[in-house]
Amino acid sequence: MVVFGLLAFALAAPRGSPADGGPVVTPLAIVETTPVPHEGDSADDPAIWVHPTDPGKSLILGTDKQGGLISYGMDGRQVQIVSDGARPNNVDVVYDFPLGAGRADLAVAGCRDSKSLGLKVWRIDAETRRLGDVTAGGFIPVFGHSEPYGSCVYHSRKSGKFYAFVNNKNGAQEQYELTAAGDTIAGTKVRAFKLKSITEGTVCDDEAGALYVAEERVGIWRFSAEPDGGSAGKLIAKVGEHGLAADVEGLTLYCAAGGKGYLIASSQGNNTFKVYAREGDNGFVCTIDPRGGAIDDVSDTDGIAVTNRPTSTAFPKGFLIVQDGSKKGGHQNFKLYRWEDIAGDRLWIDTSEDPRRR
Ligand code: CA
Ligand code: CA
Ligand code: CA
Ligand code: CA
Repeated sequence: MVVFGLLAFALAAPRGSPADGGPVVTPLAIVETTPVPHEGDSADDPAIWVHPTDPGKSLILGTDKQGGLISYGMDGRQVQIVSDGARPNNVDVVYDFPLGAGRADLAVAGCRDSKSLGLKVWRIDAETRRLGDVTAGGFIPVFGHSEPYGSCVYHSRKSGKFYAFVNNKNGAQEQYELTAAGDTIAGTKVRAFKLKSITEGTVCDDEAGALYVAEERVGIWRFSAEPDGGSAGKLIAKVGEHGLAADVEGLTLYCAAGGKGYLIASSQGNNTFKVYAREGDNGFVCTIDPRGGAIDDVSDTDGIAVTNRPTSTAFPKGFLIVQDGSKKGGHQNFKLYRWEDIAGDRLWIDTSEDPRRR
């Protein structure tokens, strides 16, 4: 295990500066999940839920867009499939939502089954590590009862309110305030705006009050995440620059203290991940191009998620999880990389920032 760790570290060292992709880091996957139950393009987007008291009991959530929402232990083994048939596409996690007499951790996903075209919300029980559907009315309709595509959550530092963002293949964006309705959760539309073409990957920076949206063939936009944030965005990364290759897919945020950290994007067209600064003008930092080893390499990459927090002993300094669009001889799955194997001495390694206090 020690030898393997050293090898992974050596391979993760930056290899120089290819003309357009900057420094490239080449980590090896340490863990992969059980393949999703459905064939073809099924696994889409992961999220990470960090257990409040016992980090080793954290869960990985993954969508099967032909089936349901799947949870996995930190060893990658499947724990549960919930809402099978709802066809969740993108999933995100929010902590400490006021529900009933206490606080609840929630998973939120945009779903594409004809009977639940909208957002669904699940409560994550820390005691049992089980997810249960808590959506008022079964689902929160979006886009006038039509199909969502990407989605994410936002916990405003400014107001303390919780929101979900959802978008569709026409580039339309909607923001919903999430509120408790007894023991369930309801959504009220508070904002709508539109980009010019297909969007999916999206993530919010709670601290900065920012919403990032990937316009798949164009680049990454930054907007205000507040409901009065208007419709004017800034294109912070363009397809074609620094090797960002369409489709731009999943987005995720690595949060270090003091507003520092990284915005990471799935560059599906060349099976890599582009790292940008979280702060300032989101300057380009480096490229992550995983390699195949004992666990196969990733391709046609889609959704991604990262945490700065320690979870199991295999991941003491956080990890990046990515969808793998092609698993030879099997169904799609998700692969996990140690953050320190990605960071090397180039990127921040900061486990201090707690998402429960964001
Ligand atoms: Ca996707
Ligand atoms: Ca897509
Ligand atoms: Ca690769
Ligand atoms: Ca693969």
